[in-house]
Amino acid sequence: MGDPAGSQLRVRGLTAGYGAAPVLRGIDLDIDPGQIVAVVGANGAGKTTLLRTLSGLVEPTEGSMTWEGDELRGTRVHDLVRRGIAHVPEGRGVITELTVEENLRLGHVWRKDKDDARRATAEVFEFFEPLARRRRSPGHQLSGGERQMLAIGRALVARPRLLLLDEPSLGLAPKVTSQIMTLLKNLRDDTGLSVLLVEQNVRSAMSIADRGVVLSLGEVVVTDDAARIAEDDDLRHAYLGF
Ligand code: ATP
Repeated sequence: MGDPAGSQLRVRGLTAGYGAAPVLRGIDLDIDPGQIVAVVGANGAGKTTLLRTLSGLVEPTEGSMTWEGDELRGTRVHDLVRRGIAHVPEGRGVITELTVEENLRLGHVWRKDKDDARRATAEVFEFFEPLARRRRSPGHQLSGGERQMLAIGRALVARPRLLLLDEPSLGLAPKVTSQIMTLLKNLRDDTGLSVLLVEQNVRSAMSIADRGVVLSLGEVVVTDDAARIAEDDDLRHAYLGF
């Protein structure tokens, strides 16, 4: 497998939605191994729909999504993780009645290699120290930032090569958002993980991203270096509302 001529994830002409009128229209997007690509855009631009389409929850009507050289369209949700892609949805999905450890265990119930699953869990605790301190606490006692770490940690025990991450900053204080962003960047630097980061918080996202993609009304209006997007005042006024 692998596609020496192409990106790790290559999306071309992707059109998808929930009914007759498409939400996403003709999306092109590339991610190289170990890259952080941030997708930003105003409310309703289609960011969540893009992640849901990539992870097989929304059926595209047109276009292609190539992952490590093979088509991703038609992959069932539970097969996605086996192919190396993990989706952390908006709202985090932590089960608040279960402890941190139990939530992490849910991330690897399906894994055959139990020793490696245990190693991956230990690595999550090493990486996210606050979670290690709270390993026996139920989810409802965690702060917003700790819950976000747990949601990411649960995805990581499957040892993905690409993380699809929906609005990790949602509801978090700026300081906590910046901690989460730093952790993501360190994770990428240490493990070579690729990240598709959907965010409304443009400054935070672009501070760790290599490339940025701006979505407006379901279309890609700009793809550029993250630093250039962060500095472009006209672009921010036109598409991002600040
Ligand atoms: P936000 O930042 O507010 O989450 P977003 O950029 O992630 O916005 P989406 O959630 O992808 O945008 O929504 C894009 C469009 O699709 C919106 O017009 C929304 O109303 C519509 N939409 C989203 N989910 C559904 C659904 N399950 N059924 C029908 N329409 C939907």
